[in-house]
Amino acid sequence: MNPIGVHALSLVGGWSEAEARDAIGRSARLGFELIEIPMMEPDTFDPAMTRRLLDEHGLGATVSLGLDATTDISSPDEAVARRGEDHLGRVVELAANIGATHVCGVIHSAMQKYMQPASEDGIGRSATILRRICARAQEHGITIGLEAVNRYESNIVNTADQAVALCEMIGADNVTVHLDSYHMNIEEGDAAAAIIRTGSRLGYVHIGESHRGYLGSGSIDFAAIFRSLVRIGYEGPITFESFSSEVVNAHLSSMLGIWRNLWSDGDDLCRHALQFTRAGLHAARQSQSTKP
Ligand code: MN
Repeated sequence: MNPIGVHALSLVGGWSEAEARDAIGRSARLGFELIEIPMMEPDTFDPAMTRRLLDEHGLGATVSLGLDATTDISSPDEAVARRGEDHLGRVVELAANIGATHVCGVIHSAMQKYMQPASEDGIGRSATILRRICARAQEHGITIGLEAVNRYESNIVNTADQAVALCEMIGADNVTVHLDSYHMNIEEGDAAAAIIRTGSRLGYVHIGESHRGYLGSGSIDFAAIFRSLVRIGYEGPITFESFSSEVVNAHLSSMLGIWRNLWSDGDDLCRHALQFTRAGLHAARQSQSTKP
């Protein structure tokens, strides 16, 4: 059965001890099995405090991040690419320190709008650096997930097929595709079919609505997505992602273009998301098992 998680920034705006205690405590109380912790600022991240709180509440963890223009591993500027590799290496070490199972997100390029298409060289640099990062992650039993995001947030991996191709270029046992229903709704012709094509390469899933609000209140066909996940036998994490400027993290809010609030009660939103996801998976398994 898939562990169901929630993105920490759906609950809190930062990762001070008070915020970590609040996010981890609420995730566990709401019934989630894991929390996805964004590692935007490794310098200020406290792994010992985080691990203690996770253990206290019996909650699993994954780590996600987006690189930026100063840490873009696809950059032709060697100093920038090297800084990106250092950054990813430190994130992998911190993830290992808190016992996280996955490091995922926009780690193949900067999470930003590019003003030009990706180059073959850029994709090659990204693959070379990620191959070394995968080897470091492998030492800690950590799975790497390359997130396919919409065209305004990367020029390297926008579709499931591109993510599979990059995984094949990297050629590591622990590199997987990370898919997100919100981004697939923008870039895939048929999200359910893209999941089937990804198949055993799929290692991480973000579930989010077309407008990033309450699941079921937008235009995404989640029933079809859950059926595909069940059909390929996907057993990895499924993490709910929703952002509101109500839960303030000014930088990420602005990067993701959260210009209006779709919700104000994070507990209610996340409780609903957990029920929606469990019910959707259950229905998909029932329909799978009654097939001739
Ligand atoms: Mn995502």
